[in-house]
Amino acid sequence: MLSYEDARALVFEHVKPLEKEQRHLIESQGLALSEDIVAPYGMPLFDNSAVDGYAVQAADLTAASRENPVCLEKLGYISAGDSGKDPLGSGQCVQIATGAPLPAGADTIVMKEDIKLEESLVCFFQSIPKTENVRYQGEDIPEGRTVIPVGTVIGPAQMAVLATFGFSRVPVRRVPKISIVSTGSELVDVDENPQSGQIRESNRYMLAGMVKQESCELVKMTMVPDIPKILKHEFEDALQADVVLISGGMSVGERDYAKPILKEMGVEEIFWKIKFKPGKPLFFGKRGKTLVFGLPGNPASSYVLFEEFVRPAMRQLMGRRILEADMVKARLDESISKTYKRLHFMRGQLHQQNGEYRVRPLNFQGSHSIGSLVESNALIRVEANSPVLPKGCQVSVRPLLNEIG
Ligand code: AMP
Ligand code: MG
Repeated sequence: MLSYEDARALVFEHVKPLEKEQRHLIESQGLALSEDIVAPYGMPLFDNSAVDGYAVQAADLTAASRENPVCLEKLGYISAGDSGKDPLGSGQCVQIATGAPLPAGADTIVMKEDIKLEESLVCFFQSIPKTENVRYQGEDIPEGRTVIPVGTVIGPAQMAVLATFGFSRVPVRRVPKISIVSTGSELVDVDENPQSGQIRESNRYMLAGMVKQESCELVKMTMVPDIPKILKHEFEDALQADVVLISGGMSVGERDYAKPILKEMGVEEIFWKIKFKPGKPLFFGKRGKTLVFGLPGNPASSYVLFEEFVRPAMRQLMGRRILEADMVKARLDESISKTYKRLHFMRGQLHQQNGEYRVRPLNFQGSHSIGSLVESNALIRVEANSPVLPKGCQVSVRPLLNEIG
């Protein structure tokens, strides 16, 4: 059976970033840049004022004090948006707004709060160094700098930079189209009442939520009973997507038809079963360019496998630079005495105390546990055949995107 590391390596090997495309700026959030964004010119665009005040020559105010103010002739007012072409000489000042261009001849700006108006004169009560309250061309982002590297996911900060440099259309990679098929004759839909032996289907919603967290496109979301003819029909439709997530039917039960049917439909098995807990029967396969993940029906298994295999694969398809949250070191709040022959990613609660991470493994780790999903915000890595891990010892933890009570 494959190790977690080898299985992940195989996934990454088979996942190639999707095509490049252009998207409108407002629709680019959550997508990854397909090119470096290099500053075509420096920002700010021109020297301008950081305050509402008066542009002067610093040399004129060297002798200014409370007792001996220096009063200068006021030339006018430069508003934000004015071209500000008129130069200023010694003995003169000009009122200026925040963001208005610094006039030629001026080398510093006195704040409006620090002056007094005396008819047509403006009086200053203290000296001021050169360059005060001036925002210089190119000081924020120099021309030629790679401001945002390729593969960065676009969020509000990146959108501000893209807008500033005129990217109304943004070079990104296409996001994968995802289809989800939940299998199981025991499943009923969310608005139905489960009869004896039945349960409400929940994996589709969980997986759809995870797909949406990555801004990928959900093209299909169905639920099917364990009837080969129906499974085949739904799988064929699902295989039109870039990634198919199949929930359930991947194990060795009498009615676990998913894997043989996928094979029959031309899906090449890359691996099936990994030395990992929860979620041993993970299936990964490919038909043409379509990737297929067969996830066990147990909700916690599906959830953890999505985090460790599907989410990073989706991000690689999107061309993202960061494929997953880095693992952090945390101290155990409680010992872990039960360990297994397989690598175990335990659900736990990560928090900070006195500036360091601490983590508490949940007591209940059943792979069917729905409750553990809302109670955990981290996965604790416990090696195969690990000795007992005492309270206080350091473990590796994957933080999850999940708010817990
Ligand atoms: P399976 O992997 O099909 O053998 O299913 C394993 C367990 O997960 C069984 O107890 C199923 O009832 C349960 N299960 C399967 N699919 C789902 C689903 N979509 N939502 C919730 N539970 C499921
Ligand atoms: Mg089943």
